[in-house]
Amino acid sequence: MLKIGVLNGDDIGLEVVPQAVRVMQAAAARCGLTVDWQPLPIGRSGHETHGHTMPQVTVDTLKAVDGWLQGPIGHNAYPRSDSTWINPPLRKMFELFASVKPVKSYPNIASIHKNVDIVFLREVTEGMQSGSVTVAGTGEFRPNDDITIGHRVITRRGSNRVARAAFEIARTRARKRVTAVHKEPVFRLACGMFAEECRKVAAEYPDCSFDEVLVDGFAMKLVMAPQPYDVVVTTNQFGDILTDEGAGLVGGLGLAPGLCIGDRQAMAQATHGSAPDIAGRNIANPYAMIMSGKMLFAWLGHQRALPAAVEAAALIERAMDKVIAQAIALTGDLGGQGTTSGMGDAVVAAITH
Ligand code: NAD
Repeated sequence: MLKIGVLNGDDIGLEVVPQAVRVMQAAAARCGLTVDWQPLPIGRSGHETHGHTMPQVTVDTLKAVDGWLQGPIGHNAYPRSDSTWINPPLRKMFELFASVKPVKSYPNIASIHKNVDIVFLREVTEGMQSGSVTVAGTGEFRPNDDITIGHRVITRRGSNRVARAAFEIARTRARKRVTAVHKEPVFRLACGMFAEECRKVAAEYPDCSFDEVLVDGFAMKLVMAPQPYDVVVTTNQFGDILTDEGAGLVGGLGLAPGLCIGDRQAMAQATHGSAPDIAGRNIANPYAMIMSGKMLFAWLGHQRALPAAVEAAALIERAMDKVIAQAIALTGDLGGQGTTSGMGDAVVAAITH
């Protein structure tokens, strides 16, 4: 049995997360997968019930679950300088070291390119992002008004584990190809260490092919001809930019799911924010949250050797493909007139019939 936490988040999180849970429940029932769902307060609901946007009960319960769904947090609207209103740092707290972001085009959804099917892995605990690399203080400082210094942290352990996660995912895909993106000729030590660890791990996966591309050239190739890429692994800041570029290739935010993975647990989290401008109207696109949930099932299935979870993930993917191809229930951002719950209904129907 799997234990999965459900954290709705704020604004449209309250609409899209329940659709993802319904879809996952339908797929689990079809595949004989037992799941103990644990709803937990986070964000505004956490503050209303426990006086904090990240209540201790949520943190304590998450320690004992296999993974969780995390809806978007409307943190930009939180009161400033009040420590009970924070953007919950779950990624850092649970050492979820890689952000996995698939980029997939659909024939009938407007996009810059067709036949794109890439999974990006971005290392998220080190690199240049100051919040990730420091325990106290930040990764940037300004000794005087004319100079600002930022640092970048790359470790063998961080590089090795994200590379290994990339090969594990590549193994589950048809093309089994991993591309490491870096800039070793310039950043000889930092990118050099990342590249070395990727090569070491590649040698342990003879069933997968491996190549390396420099980040500037890769950014261009992604725009001009993204189709050959399968699994792409890169460091934090390069990944931050490339994953958004990837989402832009196939239709933008509504189609950008994500999974943050650690050694033991994973968090399903769509790329989009809480979209307060459309919240409460049942028009938000639930695709990204549903497909993030699908990724959680797939990851747990492989990690815990649970074929029923792998099967449930595949079932959700096939159902979503069908709903998108039929284009009857699509939400406004995808060119349709459907609703959040209507799209959830359609995916559930495609799973159960
Ligand atoms: P946003 O992603 O919420 O919205 C940007 C635009 O995309 C809006 O026009 C919105 O209506 C649209 N959009 C987003 N998701 C959509 C969906 N599923 N279906 C249809 N349209 C969708 O970004 P923002 O407006 O910059 O931020 C809003 C709030 O979300 C802020 O408080 C921000 O801090 C927060 N945020 C949270 C996360 C997170 O928790 N992971 C990520 C980004 C932003």
